[in-house]
Amino acid sequence: AKNMGGMMGSKKVKPVEAEDVRVNFDDVAGIDEVKSELQQVVSFLKEPERYTKLGAKLPKGVLLEGQPGTGKTLIARATAGEAGVPFFSASASEFIEMIVGVGASRVRELFTEARKVAPAIIFIDEIDTIGRARSSSRAMGSNSEQEQTLNQILTEMDGFTGAEGVVVIAATNRSDVLDPALTRAGRFDRKITVSAPDAGGREQILKVHTRNKPLAQDVDLMAVAKTTPGMTGADLANLANEAAILAAEKRAPAITSRDFAIALEKVQLGSERAIVMPEEEKLRTAYHVAGHALLGMLQPGADQVRKISIIPRGRALGVTLSTPESDRYGYDVDYLKGRIVGALGGMAAELEVFGVMTTGAESDLEQVTNIARNMVGRWGMSPTLGPVQVYPSEGDARQQGASEEVLGLVDREVRSLINECLDRARTLLRENRDKLDSIVEALMEHETLDEAQSYEAAGVQPIPARPLMVG
Ligand code: ADP
Ligand code: ZN
Repeated sequence: AKNMGGMMGSKKVKPVEAEDVRVNFDDVAGIDEVKSELQQVVSFLKEPERYTKLGAKLPKGVLLEGQPGTGKTLIARATAGEAGVPFFSASASEFIEMIVGVGASRVRELFTEARKVAPAIIFIDEIDTIGRARSSSRAMGSNSEQEQTLNQILTEMDGFTGAEGVVVIAATNRSDVLDPALTRAGRFDRKITVSAPDAGGREQILKVHTRNKPLAQDVDLMAVAKTTPGMTGADLANLANEAAILAAEKRAPAITSRDFAIALEKVQLGSERAIVMPEEEKLRTAYHVAGHALLGMLQPGADQVRKISIIPRGRALGVTLSTPESDRYGYDVDYLKGRIVGALGGMAAELEVFGVMTTGAESDLEQVTNIARNMVGRWGMSPTLGPVQVYPSEGDARQQGASEEVLGLVDREVRSLINECLDRARTLLRENRDKLDSIVEALMEHETLDEAQSYEAAGVQPIPARPLMVG
């Protein structure tokens, strides 16, 4: 506390110092895709000239996005360790806790020190605390300290030619609120999502964290992994440690599977994010996402299914990822209906299999209603209503002169369109129940399926995208 008692009780500001990193990629498990993306950064930091000689520009900034505990800090540190370069780290929240004006100068110092010893990595955790979109941060009471600090980071990065050999890695669990200025080309233009690990990944992480711990014969790490869906690397590290403590308290020579079981209960109680999904809920989620996925696979022209997962991801539970093909000029009626059918797939599957509805389809319905409203009221796609625009793209339909009668008609048409699509979704799923069940079986086993695994589990051939030109 030697720096206490300064003006206004300002906190002690520790000097900017590089950390001598002792971890490398062997210490990071279960997130292989993230590792291989960062491998390029490692190669660049090891031998910057190899790239700059050929005029190749490497990313100055990498944004790691993922929920807390997924290993973002660890992998940033391991990237430095792997490349053997100094690691400077700071948390964005600490910048704004500092007295006025210090945040920006702290950033300047950070970059100056890093440049001196480059190649180097600068890691900025919780970038969202200073990098929120300006409009939203202003709405919440503008904070000039925040803006100055952010601007300083952007200025520093813009000043890089790319030959300095300094790579800035930022981490956030809210990339949705970030100011677009941050992710512009030449800044944090490479975004890498760090997901919670699947069962195989969790086993690998448990292996890393039991490397120096004697395990009894009866311990099966894959079995432990299977009972921990939703847990992050941090939760698993914690679990392994708690199990070791339990064994040590008994003066046992090794950790037993019972120690893991007891530790698991303890860790779950202490960690809100480590909600372990009961088997029943897992099954329901699996049917929900499989429903979306299968309908995507069965409809010609629909977006390809890229990944299916029942692992909670951000705030969404179990997402089906499909990427719309690029270069679409517009959407035709069949495609849009297919989108609605696909979005209703989760609900349809739950209805077909369990006969009940759950709240899990809330965001699906939001999407469905949106598409249907646009089809009927904006794009003139309802045969009954004809090619009339009731909802202009901007503004209030009523103010633009739409009558109550027409608005009522739109509502009826929207409802009948959605009902027609729900019927179609349920019929398709009923007729292809075997495929639905196989996807679910694979999901219960692996939790996450990539594109190839998804189509294989369903026994469906990917349908090549239909060329489409409208307008
Ligand atoms: P984040 O920065 O995403 O919040 P951290 O990197 O701080 O997460 O993770 C906290 C700890 O959890 C790490 O130091 C490590 O012990 C463990 N951990 C997290 N993810 C992994 C992983 N993928 N492999 C091994 N250990 C992990
Ligand atoms: Zn859904």
